[in-house]
Amino acid sequence: MDTVLLIALLIALLVVVAVVVIVLLLRRKSTPATGEPTVDTGLRIRLSKTRSAISASLAGVFGSDQLSDDQWEAIEDALITADVGPAATAEIVQNVRDDRPGDGAEARAALIVELEAALGNSDRSLRLDGSPAVVLVVGVNGTGKTTSIAKIANRLVEEDVTVVLGAADTFRAAADAQLREWGSRVGVSVVSGAQGADPASVAHDAYTAARADGADVVIVDTAGRLHNQKNLMDELGKVVRVLEREASGISEVLLVLDGTTGQNGIAQAKQFSDAVGVTGVVLTKLDGTSRGGIAIAIERELDIPVKFIGIGEGMHDLIPFVPEDFVEALLAP
Ligand code: GDP
Repeated sequence: MDTVLLIALLIALLVVVAVVVIVLLLRRKSTPATGEPTVDTGLRIRLSKTRSAISASLAGVFGSDQLSDDQWEAIEDALITADVGPAATAEIVQNVRDDRPGDGAEARAALIVELEAALGNSDRSLRLDGSPAVVLVVGVNGTGKTTSIAKIANRLVEEDVTVVLGAADTFRAAADAQLREWGSRVGVSVVSGAQGADPASVAHDAYTAARADGADVVIVDTAGRLHNQKNLMDELGKVVRVLEREASGISEVLLVLDGTTGQNGIAQAKQFSDAVGVTGVVLTKLDGTSRGGIAIAIERELDIPVKFIGIGEGMHDLIPFVPEDFVEALLAP
C-alpha cells in the first residue's frame, strides 16, 4: 500500500513539474527575440550604464526615510553625471523639492514625473508627407548615420513601406559601398553617384528614381565631415534647396548624434540646425554610455524632438523614443 502511495505521489510530482516546464517554455516563446526590447527587460539592460549612473548610485537615497541636504545634492550630482545638463538638473531637482516628498521613494516617484515633464510631449513620429516623402539624414561621420539609415529603412520595410536610399555622401570613398551593402541587407535600392559628384545632384537623382518607382519614401544620406567646416554646411544647404524645389518640401531632416559624446553633441546639433533646420534627432549608442541624460539636455536646449534612440548594433536596435519608457528604464525600482 505504501509503495502504491509513493508511486502515485511521484507521478503527481512529475505531472506538476511537467506543467511548470511547459508553462515556462510557452512564456519564453512569446517574448520577442529580436523585436522591440520591452521596458522591463530590454530597454533597462540596454540603458544600464546610464541607469547605474543615476539610479544605482541613488539606491541609498531612494531607500531613506527622510532626505538630507547631502542626499538632495547626490540626486543633483547623479543627473549631472548622466549629462542632463546643469540648467535642466537645477530646475528638475527644485521641482522635486517643491513637491516635498516625504521619503526617498516619494522623491524617486516625483523625479520620474519631473524627468518625463522635462521631455515634454512633442510629436516624435516620423513624418512621411509627400510622394515619395523625403527624409534627409545629416550628422558627423562615425555617429552612426549609415547604420541608423539602414535601421530606419528596415523598420519601414517591415511596415510594408517602400524605400529608396540616396547615397549623397560622395566625399567619403567608402560611404557609397557601405550604404549599398546595407541596402542589399534590407532589400532596398540605392541611388548613388561617382565619388566627388555633386551631392545635390545625387539627391535629386535619388528623388527622381524613387518617384519613378512609385516608392513611398526616399532617405538621403549626406556627407559628415567635421561640422565646423563651412563647405559642409553650404553643401547640405544646397542639397536641401534642390530637394525642396524638386519634392516641394522635405518631410524630415534627421540629425544623428552620438550619445556617447554627451554635451558636445549639443554644439554639433546647433550648427546643423542653423544650417539645415533639423526636425528630429536620432540619438545613437545609448547602450554604450552613462550619459543618456543628454536626451533631456538636447530637447531643452534645442527644442528639437528626439525621435529615435540607438541601443545597439543590431538591425532592430533603433527604437522610437518614448519618454515614459526611457525614464522608467532609468529610474523605476
Ligand atoms: P557613420 O560614419 O555616421 O555613417 O557611422 P556608422 O553608421 O558607420 O556607425 C559607426 C559605428 O557605430 C558602427 O560600428 C556602428 O555599428 C556603431 N553604432 C551605430 N549605432 C549604434 C548604437 O546605437 N549602439 C552601438 N553600440 N553602436 C552603434
